Amino acid sequence: MSKIRMTTPLVEMDGDEMTRILWQMIKDILILPFVDLHTEYYDLGLLSRNATADQITIDSALATRKYGVAVKCATITPNRQRMEEYPELTEMWKSPNGTIRSILDGTVFRAPITVPSIRPVVKNWVKPITIARHAYGDVYRSVDLRTDEPGECHLTFTGASGKKQTLLVQKVNGPAIWQGAHNTEASIRSFAKSCFQYAVDTRQDLWFSTKDTIAKIYDGEFRMVFEQEYENYREKFAELGITYFYTLIDDAVARVIRSEGGYIWACKNYDGDVMSDMVSTAFGSLAMMTSVLVAPDGTTEYEAAHGTVTRHYYKYLKGEKTSTNPIATIFAWSGALNKRGELDHLPELQAFAKALEKASLQTITDGIMTKDLVALVEPGLPAQAVDSEEFMQAIAERLQKLLS
Ligand code: NAP
Ligand code: MG
Repeated sequence: MSKIRMTTPLVEMDGDEMTRILWQMIKDILILPFVDLHTEYYDLGLLSRNATADQITIDSALATRKYGVAVKCATITPNRQRMEEYPELTEMWKSPNGTIRSILDGTVFRAPITVPSIRPVVKNWVKPITIARHAYGDVYRSVDLRTDEPGECHLTFTGASGKKQTLLVQKVNGPAIWQGAHNTEASIRSFAKSCFQYAVDTRQDLWFSTKDTIAKIYDGEFRMVFEQEYENYREKFAELGITYFYTLIDDAVARVIRSEGGYIWACKNYDGDVMSDMVSTAFGSLAMMTSVLVAPDGTTEYEAAHGTVTRHYYKYLKGEKTSTNPIATIFAWSGALNKRGELDHLPELQAFAKALEKASLQTITDGIMTKDLVALVEPGLPAQAVDSEEFMQAIAERLQKLLS
């Protein structure tokens, strides 16, 4: 069988710990035997970031902008404990995901990978629910204040022209707490563009929710910017038979619970933070969650939502075989290869990506899986735990059959 050809490089961002081990296995067992893989490789492993003073992270984001598609392995975000663990670190380097996101000005979409034998807690969710979280501003960039006497608080904006706008926030008779939050029109617009773009890419309806009945100006701005951006997508949506739907956040929550899934739910920063944890837990496992960063111009980076699985890595270093779940990382690869195929008009590459996903899910349905999934499978259905390598070999067998 001749290998599937690629024409444009895929930006490959390698990472840390157990996921770095899985990364190599995925390439060796599931991709290289079938695809004449063409990547531009960036090592975002912690020591490589340190050696380049984090320039490699910036370079990888710029390469992503140039080529349009990247696949990323989970990486360590150093904290104090990591500084002790890696004494050679010259700085507590920033989160690579944060750096890449700010260079690409992107929005993160998190979606569960669903298998028939693992039912979500919410029984009527038969399709995945993708959450898009606006990752700038609101309470995450706010200032807080506590005061301990009667008085009044004002909100004042001083324009670059010198023009001032002032509002009374409240007059109080005793101790009080205050918060000043903001967002920018540009950031909301990028968020809206990424959401409409991703809805088109994945052919799913887009839901958006805020509390604009209460925060008439603040949340009203979000609603208005989305409506304006929708005008640029209205025809495309009609053509694809997908819809844009706005509703209040509390109504959205009720509808989400009663829905069958199969749409993108765009949320403001705080709503997305909270709801993404609820949705991912209800779908089963962090190890089955993908994360896609989409820039307003359509540039896309695929990864797993989980981290580097440190605890498993220490077992691996002791020579033990681990049963770490590679599914989300495999789907990051398939997502990226599919997108590359779509942009470069390579149907064979797209077919390979689809087959890789199908073989992965078939393996689980056949009862072969990593340890974390065994407890989630519906009673009575087959479920046998194997180590990561055996799991990937089982996927490879099925993939071989699908491709021949
Ligand atoms: P984590 O790596 O996601 O792992 C937390 C726990 O979740 C694991 O110990 C494991 O539970 C379970 N788990 C997660 N992924 C799994 C998988 N694929 N297969 C099986 N079990 C899985 O989170 P963390 O321990 O909080 O963070 C570790 C490092 O990852 C940190 O340095 C953090 O900075 C980094 N991180 C990176 C990213 C990213 O690059 N996108 C995201 C999050 C965290 P058991 O131990 O019970 O088996
Ligand atoms: Mg959260």
